[in-house]
Amino acid sequence: MADSTPLIAEEALVDGNPSTVTLSASGRIEWRGKSSGCLSVDADVLGYAAEGSALRIRAFVKKSGGCCCGHKEVVRERRDVVLEPSSEESLGLWCERLRQCIDSLARPQNLLILVNPYGGKKSASKIFQKEVAPLLAAADVKYTLEETQYRFHAKEIAHALDISKYDGIVCVSGDGIIVEVINGLLEKEDWPTAIKMPIGIIPAGSGNGMAKSLLDSVEEACVASNATFAVIRGHKRALDVATVLQEETRFFSVLMLSWGIVADIDIESEKYRWMGGARIDFYSIVRMIDLRHYNGRVSFVPAPGYEVYGNPVSEQEESLSRLNSLSKSEKQCAYLGPMCSFEPQEWRTYDGPFISVWLHNVPWGSETVMPAPDAKFSDGYLDLILVRDSPKLALIETMAKLSDGGHVKSPHVLYLKVKAFYLEPGQRANETDKGGIIDCDGEVLARGQGTYKFGQQQDLMAYGPPIYMTVDKGLATLFSPK
Ligand code: ADP
Ligand code: MG
Repeated sequence: MADSTPLIAEEALVDGNPSTVTLSASGRIEWRGKSSGCLSVDADVLGYAAEGSALRIRAFVKKSGGCCCGHKEVVRERRDVVLEPSSEESLGLWCERLRQCIDSLARPQNLLILVNPYGGKKSASKIFQKEVAPLLAAADVKYTLEETQYRFHAKEIAHALDISKYDGIVCVSGDGIIVEVINGLLEKEDWPTAIKMPIGIIPAGSGNGMAKSLLDSVEEACVASNATFAVIRGHKRALDVATVLQEETRFFSVLMLSWGIVADIDIESEKYRWMGGARIDFYSIVRMIDLRHYNGRVSFVPAPGYEVYGNPVSEQEESLSRLNSLSKSEKQCAYLGPMCSFEPQEWRTYDGPFISVWLHNVPWGSETVMPAPDAKFSDGYLDLILVRDSPKLALIETMAKLSDGGHVKSPHVLYLKVKAFYLEPGQRANETDKGGIIDCDGEVLARGQGTYKFGQQQDLMAYGPPIYMTVDKGLATLFSPK
């Protein structure tokens, strides 16, 4: 039985203690002696080095007993195990077998690392130096480091990148940089190969929804060290990419789109930045007391099992079937979105007014807000969270449950999965001279008259004309803890 026969089995010193040590074909190092222990090469080992007659195995192991703050989430710590084999020959064998074992894991060897010094508390550079770089060094991963200098710099870097030079791009930032990288890769001529470049995310911004979604899926704490280890281990998972389209203008989204109260809170609370972290809570209360309802219409192609939601589409048939031809454009060299076509009868619709329209691709929107508890990274669907109307008190209760996804059980919330989405945003029901804000992945996509910074900023899309969204199942690739 080849599988259970150890590749190496011998008497050696482990941290100075005489022990029986084995390395199994599945990559498990085990020792028994005065103290016993084991390491999985895949799940615990960063790297190794021969030091004289000894072998230093650099590991990153789960802390026993959970973390100090009472969380169940996994936190790791660095640990070295020093093995002294009985002979020089044996040391050579250990090095060779460990090398083969690590090589078989297809870990990244050369990374492009983008650090956004401006994100979050402006501490991404410090996080990189203190928490990320030491682990990369222990794992012998080579990298090129670049700090983003301005908005869209990461997109330019990804767009101009020679992808053959790297095994992955790692963003030490919030969610903004990963979105820019995806958009930059999809605008390349060689986008079909470029978009398969694995992307890693180390939480260092104020919105770390992608990192939280990845780490929470395996009950790991959303900290830079766990995220770095996920990149080093090199496991990958596919990620849905949504194409957001208004006439000929495209934006590629991997996180969310919001219109109504959520976008208003996120964007307008900028006015209260001086309050620090309290600005969101404060402005949420303001918006719930002075509640806005938006006219408009949402239409969607429900995922299987969600066909009962919405009403059948009637007059719109013509405009919705026209959408099938929108994948074509004169910009043939870049990605144009998924080539999907839907029959008019597949569409369902809700007419406004709405309090909130929110689409999510992954469960977490930030480290503390989980709008879409059922969202999957690569199911080919977006989760739609819709609030048409709600008494104010019930709305406050609903919003308070966003931290654990409990809001989806509220009778005032509709929660479903969609394959395609069509938004026709209108004016506020009681202030018809004012529009709303459409926020996509933390960027303002469009803002209506009378909104925060209206007319001061050039946004990608206009407020009013319809916005169409489709999903390309598993188009991008992420480094993932599992
Ligand atoms: P946060 O989660 O705090 O928003 P992100 O990393 O998502 O942090 O980045 C926020 C924004 O910062 C992005 O839109 C990005 O384009 C922009 N940005 C990147 N580098 C710089 C820079 N040097 N100066 C100003 N803005 C920058
Ligand atoms: Mg999805």
